[in-house]
Amino acid sequence: MAVDSILSSPLGPPACEKDAKALQFIEEMTRNADSVQENVLAQILGRNADTEYLKSFNLDGATDRHTFKSKIPMVTYEDFHPFIQRIADGDRSPILSSHPVSEFLTSSGTSAGERKLMPTIKEELERRQLLYSLLMPVMNLYVSGLDKGKGLYFLFIKSETKTPGGLLARPVLTSYYKSDHFKTRPHDPYNVYTSPNEAILCPDSFQSMYTQTLCGLYNRHQVLRIGAVFASGLLRAIRFLQLNWHQLSHDIRAGSLNPKVTDPSIRHCMTRILRPDPELADFILSECSKDNWERIITRIWPNTKYLDVIVTGAMAQYIPTLDYYSGGLPKACTMYASSECYFGLNLNPMCKPSEVSYTIMPNMAYFEFLPHDNNNSNSAAARLVDLVDVEVGREYELVITTYAGLSRYRVGDILRVTGFHNAAPQFQFVRRKNVLLSIDSDKTDEAELQAAVDRASRLLNTSVVEYTSYADTATIPGHYVVYWELMVREASQAPEAGVLERCCLEMEESLNSVYRQCRVADGSIGPLEIRVVRNGTFEELMDYAISRGASINQYKVPRCVSFTPIMELLDSRVVSTHFSPSLPHWGPHSRR
Ligand code: AMP
Repeated sequence: MAVDSILSSPLGPPACEKDAKALQFIEEMTRNADSVQENVLAQILGRNADTEYLKSFNLDGATDRHTFKSKIPMVTYEDFHPFIQRIADGDRSPILSSHPVSEFLTSSGTSAGERKLMPTIKEELERRQLLYSLLMPVMNLYVSGLDKGKGLYFLFIKSETKTPGGLLARPVLTSYYKSDHFKTRPHDPYNVYTSPNEAILCPDSFQSMYTQTLCGLYNRHQVLRIGAVFASGLLRAIRFLQLNWHQLSHDIRAGSLNPKVTDPSIRHCMTRILRPDPELADFILSECSKDNWERIITRIWPNTKYLDVIVTGAMAQYIPTLDYYSGGLPKACTMYASSECYFGLNLNPMCKPSEVSYTIMPNMAYFEFLPHDNNNSNSAAARLVDLVDVEVGREYELVITTYAGLSRYRVGDILRVTGFHNAAPQFQFVRRKNVLLSIDSDKTDEAELQAAVDRASRLLNTSVVEYTSYADTATIPGHYVVYWELMVREASQAPEAGVLERCCLEMEESLNSVYRQCRVADGSIGPLEIRVVRNGTFEELMDYAISRGASINQYKVPRCVSFTPIMELLDSRVVSTHFSPSLPHWGPHSRR
C-alpha cells in the first residue's frame, strides 16, 4: 500500500493497518471524485427507475447525468411533502425509493412548525457507519496516543414517535445509537468511551447525563478527549456539573448511585464502575466549590488533548465560552452531516475553527451545487454544477440526490469552496439559509419570529412598532432576547409586567416544535426574554446604520442583531425586561 501517498500529515504514517485502509479509501474516493459521482448517480437512478417519482419524469431507463439534469427538477422539502406524507400514512408502494423506507429521520429543520421527516432505508446506516469509521484514522494522523486512554463523550437519545402508517420517526443519532452498529461495535482501542451504552441509551436525560458525568469523573486521568455533537451540548454538560457536583462527589465518596437514577440497566451496569474514592471526591469538591470555573475542563481532566465538538455554523457563538472553560483547548470539528445524508469530514481536524473545511465524500450521495447569488430564476436548476466543477472562493447551496429517494433536494446549507483534496472540493460551512436565531438545534427563521411577535402582540392593548432579536449565549442555557418598541406615548400607558410576561410565553408557544422541545424536554434553551425599549430607539438604530453608510431608501430594520455597538445602543434604551414565566407546550406526540 502506498502509505506515502496518503494524506500529508505532520505525524507521518497511519497509526495502524486499519487506519491505513481507511486513509487509502479517502484517497481513492477523492482522487476519483468525478467517476465515483457518476457511478453513484447511475446506481441511484438504476435502482429507483421504477419508483413513482422518477417514472413521472420519463427517464426511460437512462441513468446518465445529462438526462438526469435535463429532466429532473430541483426541489425543496415542501415539494416532496405530499409523497412523504403518503409514506408516513402507510403507503408501501415504491414512491421515492425501490428499497423499503425503514424509518423517518426527524430533522431539526422544520416545515410549518414541525420537524421535517426524512425517509431513510436500511443500507444508509452502513453508509453513515462508513463515514464514522474514517474519523479516527484521520484524527490519529494529528494526535498520537489516543489508544492509551478514553473519550468522554456526552451522547443522548431523544424521544421517538410512530407515523400513522407505523414507521418510526426519530433523530438520526437516536437511530444510530440504537442500532447494532453502535451497540455491538467491536472493541477499538482508539475509540473507547467512558460512557456505558446503558447510559447513552437511557431516554431520561437527567439519568443519562448524571451517569455519563459520573463515569467521566471516575476516569478523570484516562480521559484524552471530551466531546458532544455540538458545542451547545458540551456546555450543557458543564452546566450540569455546576448544578450537580455536590451529589456527584457524594456518590464518589460512598461508591453509591444517586437514587434519582432509577433505570435498572444503568443501575446494573454501574455496579461494575462504582467504588468509594474519597480522594477523588475531595478533589471534585475542592475544584467545583471554587467561584472561578475558568479552565475547569483541564483542571478536572488534565490529560485532555482536544474537544470534539462542532463549532462551525451557528455553533461558532460558543467558542469564547468553550475557550474559557477549557483554557483554549483545540476544538476539532470532525464531520458535516444531516438527517438527509452524511456529507463528509474534516481532513485537518486540529485546525482553527475559522479554518475548518469539510471534504464531501463522493460515495455518500450525488451532490450538486447551486451558485449562491440573488438569481432565483426558474432556470436555477440549469445552473447547478457538479462536485468537481465548483470554483474556489465561490459560495453554493448544497443540492443532493440520495439512495433513499431525495432527488435534487435543496438542503438549505450555504458552503464556500476553500480548496481541493485531490479532485474533491473542500467547503467551509457558511450558514444555513433563513436562520435568524439558534441556541441549540433549533433554527428560527424570520417568518417564524414575525408570526410569534404578531401572535403575542394580540395580548396587548397597543401594538409593537418595531422589533429585533438576538441569541443570548452569555449564560447557559442561552435564550432568545426580543427587543420591542411599543406604541405608547407615556410610560403610564405601558402594558403591565404580567401581560408582557404572557407575551413572552405566547411567543414561545408560537415557535416551532424543535424550539419547544429544546425548552421543555432538553432544557437546552432558557426562557424567552422581551426587552422593552423606549420610544424612538429604532429610529436611532436607523440613524446609526445610515451614519455607517446604509442607504435611507433601502434601510430595513434588522430582525436579528449581533454587532456590539448596536446591542449597546439597544440595551442602553431598555425600560423593562420580562421573561417567560413557564414552559410552552411540547410533547413528543403533539402535532399542532
Ligand atoms: P439535522 O438535519 O437536524 O441533522 O441538521 C443538519 C444541519 O445541521 C445541516 O444541514 C447543517 O445546517 C447543520 N450542520 C451539520 N453539521 C454541521 C457542521 N459540521 N458545521 C455546521 N453546521 C452543521
